[in-house]
Amino acid sequence: MTLSSKILCNYSTNKDNCKECTKVESQWDMKLLLEDLRNAKTQKLTKSEMCWLRLLMYGLSPEEIAKKLILTNAHIKSALSGSIYRYVETMTGRDVSKYSQVRLFIQEEEKYEKKKFEIVIGKNIKPSEINQELLKFLLKNLGI
Ligand SMILES: [Zn+2]
Repeated sequence: MTLSSKILCNYSTNKDNCKECTKVESQWDMKLLLEDLRNAKTQKLTKSEMCWLRLLMYGLSPEEIAKKLILTNAHIKSALSGSIYRYVETMTGRDVSKYSQVRLFIQEEEKYEKKKFEIVIGKNIKPSEINQELLKFLLKNLGI
């Protein structure tokens, strides 16, 4: 009997099909994170690496990722320590020896966490009175 591995979660084919990845994308600036990790790796992350990263960012352990993707624990553990862990080390300058440090170190960088802004513009403020720099900053952080 052979196990049929999915390798990737359903997020790459149908975004609504993976609740973990959908949540991670809404909470984290994955575009920025992937860009920085790409620089650390010096090349683009593979689809599998992106998938594992999202699942790690959700808080899944390597065992849980293995179970979800129908891979063996040994496979995912060696794949992670040969990829994501090393890129995060290069990016943060800190040693990664266990999976939970990936999420922790990335969280401590702060810039990757999406911030929720509530913009309340009163009726009596004229558009010309709005601080342009602040507005640009807010729009950038909202991803508009
Ligand atoms: Zn997923």
